[in-house]
Amino acid sequence: MTDSRVHMKDKRRIVVKIGSSSLQHEETGDLDYTKLDVLVRELCNLRNQGKDVVLVTSGAISVGKKAIMLPEDEDDNPIAVKQACAAVGQARLMMIYQKIFAEYNQVAAQILMTKNTIVDNLNRFNAQNTFAELFKLGVIPIVNENDTVATYEIEIGDNDTLSAIVASLIDADMLLLLSDIDGLYTDDPRQNPDVKYIEVVEELTDELMNMGKASTGSSAGTGGMFTKLQAAKIANSMGVDMVIANSRDIKVIHRILSGQNIGTLFMAHRESQFDLPLYVQQMHKN
Ligand code: GLU
Repeated sequence: MTDSRVHMKDKRRIVVKIGSSSLQHEETGDLDYTKLDVLVRELCNLRNQGKDVVLVTSGAISVGKKAIMLPEDEDDNPIAVKQACAAVGQARLMMIYQKIFAEYNQVAAQILMTKNTIVDNLNRFNAQNTFAELFKLGVIPIVNENDTVATYEIEIGDNDTLSAIVASLIDADMLLLLSDIDGLYTDDPRQNPDVKYIEVVEELTDELMNMGKASTGSSAGTGGMFTKLQAAKIANSMGVDMVIANSRDIKVIHRILSGQNIGTLFMAHRESQFDLPLYVQQMHKN
């Protein structure tokens, strides 16, 4: 165990984010129930250790698309169609999560957020209180963006950023981003065979942030490396450690939290002048 990982097993409040592409079969785009089951089991096991757990999950739009059998090639759907898909898919996704969480004797709750949840002082205060109460009750909050109403002005836009905002809001100790990449590389490994893998990022420099700008996201979700680095910036500045790891094997969750050197660790360095509501308000203007 390296020095930077020693404290992993002491993390008490953990946010786990999983992307759409990690939840579905590559061949069909249908949900991968085995992965969902392992994910929920891992989270329930953390809860059983007395930790506070939050799941930030994508999939509303892709599950909705499947449910109403929208043709695959209609990717340029008008926003209203995406919102309709999310309305169908979010409910269906929750139904599936509720069922699996119940199998492991845990209660799950749904929290849907927009930018306003953070920017508006009263909304933010209410959201914080809701999370606090859910933790007290031992409930596992499942968070997504409220895609059915979030249009450009009020949308956060991707769940990497959303999960970092949630982790900051609830004073989490740790944010774990599960994605289809192993961690951070010096360049895009799909295009450059000479890239180097980065195990630990002690400080997010401008150079690193710029490296992420060149990367693209997967076909299912909206996040690429840049949104992950942006998430790291928010989480780290708010005092939250973040790890990016590959969701190929969902069991990495307990391995990482037991201190194994898996994925890239972005180390927290609290910046007292970092203003979360202001940052969120200005996000799309940056
Ligand atoms: N909120 C979107 C959904 O659930 C996904 C956003 C993302 O993939 O980052 O479909």
